[in-house]
Amino acid sequence: MSQTTTYLAKHVKELKPSGIRRFFDLAAGMKGVISLGVGEPDFVTSWNLREAAITSLEQGYTSYTANAGLIELREEIAGYMQKQFSVSYHPESEIIVTVGASQAIDIAFRAILNPGDEVIIVEPCFVSYAPLVTMAGGVPIHVQTLKENDFKILPSQLEEVITERTKAIMLCSPNNPTGTMLNKAELEKMAELAVRHDLLVLSDEIYAELVYDEPYTSLASIEGMRERTILLNGFSKGFAMTGWRLGFVCAPEDITQGMLKIHQYAIMCASTMAQYAGLEGLKNGRENVEEMRKSYRQRRNFIVQSLNDMGLTCHNPGGAFYAFPSIESTGLTSEEFAEQLLKAEKVAVVPGNAFGGSGEGHIRCSYATSLAQLQEAMKRIKRFIENL
Ligand code: PMP
Repeated sequence: MSQTTTYLAKHVKELKPSGIRRFFDLAAGMKGVISLGVGEPDFVTSWNLREAAITSLEQGYTSYTANAGLIELREEIAGYMQKQFSVSYHPESEIIVTVGASQAIDIAFRAILNPGDEVIIVEPCFVSYAPLVTMAGGVPIHVQTLKENDFKILPSQLEEVITERTKAIMLCSPNNPTGTMLNKAELEKMAELAVRHDLLVLSDEIYAELVYDEPYTSLASIEGMRERTILLNGFSKGFAMTGWRLGFVCAPEDITQGMLKIHQYAIMCASTMAQYAGLEGLKNGRENVEEMRKSYRQRRNFIVQSLNDMGLTCHNPGGAFYAFPSIESTGLTSEEFAEQLLKAEKVAVVPGNAFGGSGEGHIRCSYATSLAQLQEAMKRIKRFIENL
């Protein structure tokens, strides 16, 4: 341990680096790798959005915006949420534009958690939730969804871990890494439970635009949920804008205003030019979103069929851009599988254990890559399994 490590706070020293990163460092040093590893669209942001950002710069809009974001953008977000998801939020007081959904999740936990408050984390899940709960002084309580249930959480599993200290449940639908989407009936069961136990729900709806079989239902649109939902969303996935760092959060005024206090001190506001691009996306981006959705759907169908055909059983993910097949038949752990596949066939996937307990025995394959690349990757994975 070097001398300067001693300056770090205990909770930071104890924080483990993301399991995804170690893997990418390995892949980055190799040539000819097909990556099914990254969690971001392969599309470039549509030109009209990029142009809107350029125009904003040409016009000299280079200063801070309001802390909560441009009011025009918040008004568009309010309209979008109403039209697409049937939820109504006041642009003046119930919406904050954030630096990606990531920052929205961070300030949500920091705004609601007292030391020792418990947050139920439904795994496998996005790698940030538990560390952000810990950093906010809360205690993550992990619950494992099962492949037998297509990775859908059952209310009875939540009942088992709810205590007097439980403050919130963290839900993500469609989910990263499983692609599992909860339908309206399933969300209604979550709502019943949240109301009965007086819990908040953080609903990560970042993949809401990328759903392929059933219409999307926002948790906040279910009766009784608007007042206890912190709805997290953003432009990264649906609008292919990961690098712009633009997200938003919608919640009842008291919660939003609490979050805004943290946001104004820590961040001030999201990037101004990114906000102009987002504004254009909401005004004139519908067609592009639909095109991307269609393309992902086609790739989803291909990859899920291919994986099942080669014996890596995989449920049909209703949304996002991940397939999460079981690799148990190979007898390898998810890390062994991913590492050996990378070395033997130069295909990068993410070991399922990076996403929590029941993720073990699986790998995450992102299909946000061209169909041609996917076809080649499937050939290589098939050959890898046959040679085991
Ligand atoms: N939630 C989930 C489930 C994600 O997969 C991601 C990105 N991988 C995020 C949030 C963060 O997205 P953003 O780029 O908006 O910070």
